[in-house]
Amino acid sequence: MTEMVRKVMLSRAVRTMQDLFPVEYNFYPRSWILPEEFPLFVAEVRMMKESDPSWKPTFIVKPDGGCQGDGIYLIKDPSDVRLAGSLQSRPAVVQEYICKPLLVDKLKFDIRLYVLLKSLEPLEIYIAKDGLSRFCTEPYQEPTLKNLHQVFMHLTNYSLNIHSGNFIHSDNVNTGSKRTFSSILCRLSSRGADVKKVWSDIISLVIKTIIALTPELKVYYQSDIPAGKPGPTCFQILGFDILLMKNLKPMLLEVNANPSMRIEHEQELSPGVFENVPSPVDEEVKVAVIRDTLRLVDPHKKKRKDTQSQTSEHVSETREDLLDAGPAGGPEYETSKNPEAALPSLCLKQVFPKYAKQFNYLRLVDRVAALFIRFLGVKGTTKLGPTGFRTFIRNCKLSNSNFSMASVDILYIDITRRWNSMGFDHKESVTFLAGMCLQAFVEAFFCLAQKKYKSLPLHEQVASLIDFCEYHLAALDEKRLLCGRGVVERRGAAVTCPTDGLEVTPALHAPLLNRTAAAGKLADCRSHRYPAAVSPGAGRD
Ligand code: ADP
Repeated sequence: MTEMVRKVMLSRAVRTMQDLFPVEYNFYPRSWILPEEFPLFVAEVRMMKESDPSWKPTFIVKPDGGCQGDGIYLIKDPSDVRLAGSLQSRPAVVQEYICKPLLVDKLKFDIRLYVLLKSLEPLEIYIAKDGLSRFCTEPYQEPTLKNLHQVFMHLTNYSLNIHSGNFIHSDNVNTGSKRTFSSILCRLSSRGADVKKVWSDIISLVIKTIIALTPELKVYYQSDIPAGKPGPTCFQILGFDILLMKNLKPMLLEVNANPSMRIEHEQELSPGVFENVPSPVDEEVKVAVIRDTLRLVDPHKKKRKDTQSQTSEHVSETREDLLDAGPAGGPEYETSKNPEAALPSLCLKQVFPKYAKQFNYLRLVDRVAALFIRFLGVKGTTKLGPTGFRTFIRNCKLSNSNFSMASVDILYIDITRRWNSMGFDHKESVTFLAGMCLQAFVEAFFCLAQKKYKSLPLHEQVASLIDFCEYHLAALDEKRLLCGRGVVERRGAAVTCPTDGLEVTPALHAPLLNRTAAAGKLADCRSHRYPAAVSPGAGRD
């Protein structure tokens, strides 16, 4: 998870989803990955400025793996990126800066929201009903060359603003430099804002972001966690950093895999003498998150309790267990029947699978990842070897007279080598022999889908190819099953075709790639993402 939410990985994962569903994923600022996309960044900004001369953007440069505002700076022009030296050793994300954030008391603030990823398969997501709002300590002004460097005006990080003389510790959740998010919502509501819409936009941002992260997570998960182990094997509390724009649209800034759970802050009693004092705002939000997480991830707790002696503490805890029925109406029902209704209700609200129907159509890359995992072969690997890729092509019947196995190998080598040369995977060798990572497989898959279903929008091309592959693999599994039982049966008679208008007989498949110009066509494929002239792969192979 820590790897997945690094700035570069998160940007890549969201970008893949933006390629498929640009409207659904417009909650993430336009971003470029440095250094490899620097030429693309320059070219795109130039193009946008030419088409709209009134556009005066600001960009924020964030080093990969950084946190607490470390190494972040604002620029007005791509030429201001500090490319020298350090960038080569430390990749970064450069992002469009959101110039018109919502202000409260003339100050910029962001929201830290806690999200529990309770299970990956099946996907279960909970969101805490309250979060923290972290305030800047200088009144906000839109960025100009003069104020670009004023971190207390532009960066909301607590760890930075705590050092400002203006930082206000408060023992009240409604004031000061750190407040509860609910106190902000109350204020917005009293001004007539539609806070229900704000919440539903935030819920959908969280679900969509996790949908972008799950494919890669599943690859790591299957390599690390033994299959078939009963019960929940792991969970994660994530910290989502969200910025509300002036028009109340939430924008994702970043996801933290290791959010701070401190409920105290340091107070300087006299110069150099510090003391930890309780922070009521942190306590209000974080204790509930931890308590509810433990309840949710420990389904056996109740059984154990039954065998324990009934001390008063146990009695009250067992009553709390009644709340474990789950968030779908459970807490309210139980607390209203319980004479000790003073127990606080669950703060974690289940949002997935509750809203699965609305979001499942977005889970295309998850299905591509399932294909990838099927062909990984050796347990514990996260990369697909050339043989695994060939088997995938063969079993899914993607090769034909126009797309020979030699072209398959070229496709594999070309894409794998380029991804491995990007160097974001610090653990493995840079040669293509290290194998094809999931993102490289996804790119190859999109490429095949574009060739096969030319006229459709990308997400339909990809969905069609997934259906096609899943159909052929199901048929193969069934055939193997029948053979295993000693039943000799013609496969064509046993499996019916999905009625999605796809070609189903291999003989009718459209040519995937031209045999003689496979490498050239692959370059075309990549251009769905990068204009040929500024392709990040250019000159790297
Ligand atoms: P870090 O992990 O170092 O905290 P973030 O991505 O959270 O990095 O950025 C730090 C701060 O910079 C955020 O809390 C926010 O105040 C500000 N920020 C980050 N990205 C943007 C953006 N695209 N537009 C406006 N402000 C941003």
